[in-house]
Amino acid sequence: MNATVFNKDITYLPGVGPKRAKLFAEELDIKYYGDLLYYFPYKYVDRTKFYNIKDVHPDLANIQIKGKIVKFELAGKPNKRRLIGYFADNTGMIELVWFRGINWIRKSYTLDKEYVIFGKPTLFNKQINIVHPEIESLEEYNSRIQQGFEAHYNTTERLKKNYVNSKVIRKLQNNLLQEVKDKIGETLPKTLINQLKMSPLKEALLNIHFPKNQDQLRNAQYRLKFEELFYVELNILEQKNTRIRKFSGFHFEKVGTLFNSFYKEKLPFKLTHAQKKVLKEIRRDLGSGLQMNRLLQGDVGSGKTLVALMSILIALDNNYQSCIMAPTEILANQHYTSIKRFLDDLPVSIKLLTGSTPAAERKKIHQALLDGELQILVGTHALIEDTVQFRNLGLVVIDEQHRFGVAQRAKLWKKNTQPPHVLVMTATPIPRTLSMTIYGDLDVSVIDELPPGRKPVKTVHFYEARRLRLIEFMRKMIHQGRQIYIVYPLIRESEKLDLKDLEEGYDTILRYFPPPKYAVSVVHGKMKPEEKDKSMELFARGQTNIMVSTTVIEVGVDVPNASVMVIENAERFGLSQLHQLRGRIGRGKYQSYCVLMTSDKLSTEARKRIQTLVNSNDGFEIAEADLQLRGPGDIEGTQQSGIPFDFKIANLGKDSEILTQARNVAMEILEDDPELNKEEHSLVKKQLELIRKRSKNYSVVS
Ligand code: ADP
Ligand code: MG
Repeated sequence: MNATVFNKDITYLPGVGPKRAKLFAEELDIKYYGDLLYYFPYKYVDRTKFYNIKDVHPDLANIQIKGKIVKFELAGKPNKRRLIGYFADNTGMIELVWFRGINWIRKSYTLDKEYVIFGKPTLFNKQINIVHPEIESLEEYNSRIQQGFEAHYNTTERLKKNYVNSKVIRKLQNNLLQEVKDKIGETLPKTLINQLKMSPLKEALLNIHFPKNQDQLRNAQYRLKFEELFYVELNILEQKNTRIRKFSGFHFEKVGTLFNSFYKEKLPFKLTHAQKKVLKEIRRDLGSGLQMNRLLQGDVGSGKTLVALMSILIALDNNYQSCIMAPTEILANQHYTSIKRFLDDLPVSIKLLTGSTPAAERKKIHQALLDGELQILVGTHALIEDTVQFRNLGLVVIDEQHRFGVAQRAKLWKKNTQPPHVLVMTATPIPRTLSMTIYGDLDVSVIDELPPGRKPVKTVHFYEARRLRLIEFMRKMIHQGRQIYIVYPLIRESEKLDLKDLEEGYDTILRYFPPPKYAVSVVHGKMKPEEKDKSMELFARGQTNIMVSTTVIEVGVDVPNASVMVIENAERFGLSQLHQLRGRIGRGKYQSYCVLMTSDKLSTEARKRIQTLVNSNDGFEIAEADLQLRGPGDIEGTQQSGIPFDFKIANLGKDSEILTQARNVAMEILEDDPELNKEEHSLVKKQLELIRKRSKNYSVVS
């Protein structure tokens, strides 16, 4: 139904033609009626009100006035001419001024005819002027579908050069709606529209372009956002249902000896409430007979590794193997060591496999995996190589999962004939709206509590001018026995330049903290792995006071005695990254400090980022702020997600309420009718199929 209407080539829309059609396609990717109709305004200007000229003053923003041009006059020097139109209503007169297109203006507008003008009043030569006003005849104004809130559309330089400005687009929308408005069919079930008191699609599309008032606009926006998010959710949830129906999961029916003896004998501390809650969720999944696909979120230091280990023990108790994959060698190493330490003398076989595992050892590991002798394999990307085959892989744990692509994760699924249970972990908190969309296929568990006794890190912002005070503070801390990280940004595009920063910084630090009184280690991405590890080791063992590094320390190292982190050029880091870095301190019993050093000149956005960090230690709060500041497209992991982030109208930073509602409605529908076979859901089913088929064209909506 809508397909036929919206599929029409934009060339045939009155006012377009081949030349403009080409422009629209190239500049805005608008090719069909539907594309244009779903090209929504970015702002609205209230044009419900007409001003009397006597009330006009230069403090006002854009205003509109009804009146007549009573006289045209040329002014200024010949090379700097301007045209003045004296514009009057029955309360007074102001000047309209044009610097360009003078002849055209003179020809196009006639004296003593009624016009509506629109623009920003300014004061010039003690006269109130409106420079280059928008102007249209009263007839024209009245012939538009509606007056009221005026829509403004983004255009491009090239479009503007070719006289396609916001006003022209508005006119085209008007032409388009006149032509199709009676043919716009509904895309959501009637019952839902009634139940949520939503505008029908036809009304919403009219009112999004030509709202009469704020209410109409709000209703139109709500309807269109809801629809967009509803189909995103329905799509994800339906796929999830299909996955669950298609693959049964390994049934880990018992919690056995290993788990119990670990719990009773080896656990060095009490689990936090949050850890217990999450373990319960995982145990329920593993025992359900369905395949687990769970995301575990927990701030840095919240104790995810332990939860992973205890889940692994359940797999082992049920005679399944397990693996943990981490994004870096350092991190894999750390997991391996800490798990071995946790397990102590329990009869569990565990090995580490990374890029630097020697061939002979590698071969042994491969064989032991096939024999089923090896129970836990910890490693890096090396795990997904085809040569790594398990006898019976039952549980896969992926740490810092956003660092892996979807394809890499999928490979682990295929390491057994039936997909293993999957637990993905992340310390980068994911704003709720994102976990409902990009991670919508996963069930989410959250550790929202740190182990007891941790002191929150104190964060301060220093400008360069306070460098000497910082040095003094660092000396004091070192004399108290603490260790310090100094971190330099590393941006891939200019690795050389950044390294220079780090090298210079290192030299400066050596001057302030000279050997042999002080010891400084350095770590950066250009070093050989062995050198890096050696340097890290020295710091970890407390043999150096300061560690100068790039962000390679972002994940990994756990040095409880390090209680100060100085982040250089902090303005060049993203919010989440800063928070991750900061997570390296505050791990021991000492009060920890994070110092954000920046240059004096900060962009507003950078200032906000720094301020957010100074004010909050809460990863979730920071992630939300990050989403607001950067938008979802820039958040790590979103690119590979396959979710279209070029939403036409919805905004994941702002529309979390509508998203939640849309998700709930989608869930209710699928619960009632999992395959959407009921007559009342035929419309929804058809829409969903269209969305899945959609290439880049607008058929989303048809
Ligand atoms: P994450 O991976 O979530 O950042 P880790 O698993 O590395 O955190 O845990 C951080 C530290 O806290 C580790 O040294 C770990 O042994 C310790 N830890 C974990 N759980 C607890 C707990 N319940 N009580 C005290 N310490 C804990
Ligand atoms: Mg961890």
